[in-house]
This record gives sequence, structure tokens and C-alpha cells, in this order.
Amino acid sequence: MMTRSDFDRLMVPVYVPAAFIPVTGKGSRVWDQTGKEYIDFAAGIAVSALGHAHPVLVDALKQQAEKLWHVSNTLTNEPALQLADKLVNLTFADKVFFCNSGAEANEAALKLARRVGFNKGGIEKSEIIAFDKAFHGRTFFTVTAGGQPKYSDGFGPKPGNITHVPYNDSAAVEAVISDKTCAVIVEVIIGEGGIVPAEPDFLKTLRHLCSKHEALLIFDEVQTGVGRTGSLYAYMNTDVVPDILTSAKGLGGGFPIGAMLTTDEIAAHFPFGTHGTTYGGNPLACAVAGALLDVVSQPAVLQAVIDKGNLFRQQLNVLGESTGYFSKIRGAGLMLGAPLTEAYLGQGKKFMTAAADAGTLILQAGPDVLRFVPSLVISDEEINEGLARFEASLKNVKS
Ligand SMILES: *Cc1c(COP(=O)(O)O)cnc(C)c1O
Repeated sequence: MMTRSDFDRLMVPVYVPAAFIPVTGKGSRVWDQTGKEYIDFAAGIAVSALGHAHPVLVDALKQQAEKLWHVSNTLTNEPALQLADKLVNLTFADKVFFCNSGAEANEAALKLARRVGFNKGGIEKSEIIAFDKAFHGRTFFTVTAGGQPKYSDGFGPKPGNITHVPYNDSAAVEAVISDKTCAVIVEVIIGEGGIVPAEPDFLKTLRHLCSKHEALLIFDEVQTGVGRTGSLYAYMNTDVVPDILTSAKGLGGGFPIGAMLTTDEIAAHFPFGTHGTTYGGNPLACAVAGALLDVVSQPAVLQAVIDKGNLFRQQLNVLGESTGYFSKIRGAGLMLGAPLTEAYLGQGKKFMTAAADAGTLILQAGPDVLRFVPSLVISDEEINEGLARFEASLKNVKS
């Protein structure tokens, strides 16, 4: 049997996974090699939107697996067209580009915005405005757009002309944006950077400034998308419509897929040969994502995300107040962050480990915030059981 020490022997050491190894899952429960059970409040990282082994997704994958796994992009395929049709019908978008991850969706979005800028204003119109603490993926372009320089330092010359300003600071954007700006890229709720929601006026100001300067507004909904906040996409709850939207994580429910959504007018700047990927639009991935969207886009499912989110948030707030480990919960729907109090800053990992020991999987969003992003269809009973185990684990975290 493989063990955790085999990881250190075999794998490039960019991760430090937990000591246990999960082997199977069902709904919001996961079991490790020893048969120990965990309630899953992590869902990968906001990926397993319908939990583990959801029958609708298993069925979609099995059916497609018997038919056609892969064709190149010299051909198209039915699952990709059906998924694109659903995304177009459910959102502002007219056109879709498929890829395999959030980083690739953002890479496509940034390249497209640069190309639109180039076509409209020449080489000068290439500035990208992005935000401190943002996370957009790990390709060199997207990680440089991200707001944590330590992740892009040490790899040689960085992609240039990316300006960072503080999140939720409209005046700071107004001070730097100009006709040389080709895009503003923003998360509707900062995810990896600590679960920080955008203020409604901030997004409206971005929309206004982008339109004024003919810059594209890119919403990175890789984490907030696909029902996570209780709307199919978080922009739907903001009065603001972006020019480009990126989706991944929950879209495949655990099967790798990413998508970039945009309008006809903007898509026209990406003609034949300007961009591409081998696996983008893979029939297996698109069949799974199509089945998942049919479930998650149901109004009753989205309403349940809000209701479960309220239950979850309320219990966490009570727990935070009574124990003093964390302060008021941030986020929306089932994307919740618990900011650690002063004495526990920087210790998110300890809470994760203690919770897993007690049988609940949680995440951090940076070292100072605990993150809860369970399956969108988690049962109330699983929420209660997972939180009870989490509560029991807290006494084992020493500051
Ligand atoms: C996770 C994430 C990404 C990167 O997605 P990958 O699939 O890991 O490339 C990009 N943006 C946001 C907001 C994310 O949460």
C-alpha cells in the first residue's frame, strides 16, 4: 500500500499534503486508507460542487466513456456544443472557449483582452489592472496578475504592464486607469486571498471606469461561479455585467474543465489560430459539466445553497463568539471565511490539521482565515455533524 512517505519520495515537493490518504467518497463524506470517515467542508477546493460520486455525474461520465473520449479541435463534439449552449442560455455570454483549469481560463481572458486592446489602440493599450491579494492561477501571466508577488518572484522577467491596486478601493482604480488600460481583472469575492467580498459600489465603479476607457471588465468567477454563492454566477447578484467571465473549479464537479465566457463582439478578436488547447472541450469533461449545470442551475438548488449557507454561517458565528478563535464570518452562500483572531493569526494550518484529526475537512484561505466551501448539496445533518467535530477539535489548537 502507498503511504504518505511515498509522496516525498516520488512527487515534486510543491505541496505538503496531510498525513492521511483519502480513498473513497460519497456525498459529503470521505474515507481514508484506514477506513476513518471525514465530513468534507472542503470539496477539493470548492470543486466537488455536488459532493463525491453524485449519481447524475457518475452516470454522465459512464455514458460518455462508452461513446467518445476525445477528438481534436479540428473536430467539434456534441457534449461541448451542448454545454456551451447551456452556458450561453444561462448567462450574459454569446460565446464560450473551453480549457482545462482556472488558470487557463484566465490566461485566455487576459490574452483576449490584450488582443482587443491591441486591435483598438495598438501596442500602447496593454495595461492590465489587477488587485492586491487576488488569485488568478499559476501560469506565469496569471500568477503575475495575482496579487501576491511572492508567487511570481524568482522566475525571471515577469509579464509586464500589470498594475496592482488595493481591492475595494475605487479611488485607487480611478487614479491609475486610462485609455492605455485594456482590462481590469477582479474576483467578485476574493477567494484564496481570504474570502473578502467586493462592495457593490466598487464593482459598479469598475464597470463605469472600464466602459469609459474602453477597457474590458474580466470577472474571475473560478471560485464564486457555478452556484457557490447562491446565484449561478456571482455577477448575477451585483447589478454589474462583465465583458469576460472565467469559470472552472465547480464547473466539472471534480472533472477538470475551465471556460471563458464573452460576447460576440469581443470573441471576434480571437479568430482562427490566435489561441487553442489540446484538451479544451474534451467530451468527457463537457458531458460531466453539462449534467452538473442541469442540477445546479435549478432555482430550488440555488435557494438551498443560500439556506444552507445561512445555517452554516449562523452556527459558525455562534461558535466564533463563544470560543474567541475567529471573528464574524465573511462570504456568501456556501463560500464562507472565518477570520482568525489576533492570537491565532498565521495558524490556519493548525486548525485544518486539528479538524481533520477530529473528522472534518476544512481549508484555509491564506494563513489567517479558515475557509468552508462544502458541496452545494450537503445535507443539514452533515453540516451539523461536521461542525460538531470541528468544534470538538478547537480545544486542541494552542496559540
Ligand atoms: C483556484 C482559482 C484559480 C486557479 O484555478 P486552477 O484550476 O487552479 O488553475 C483562479 N482564480 C480563482 C479565483 C481561483 O479560486
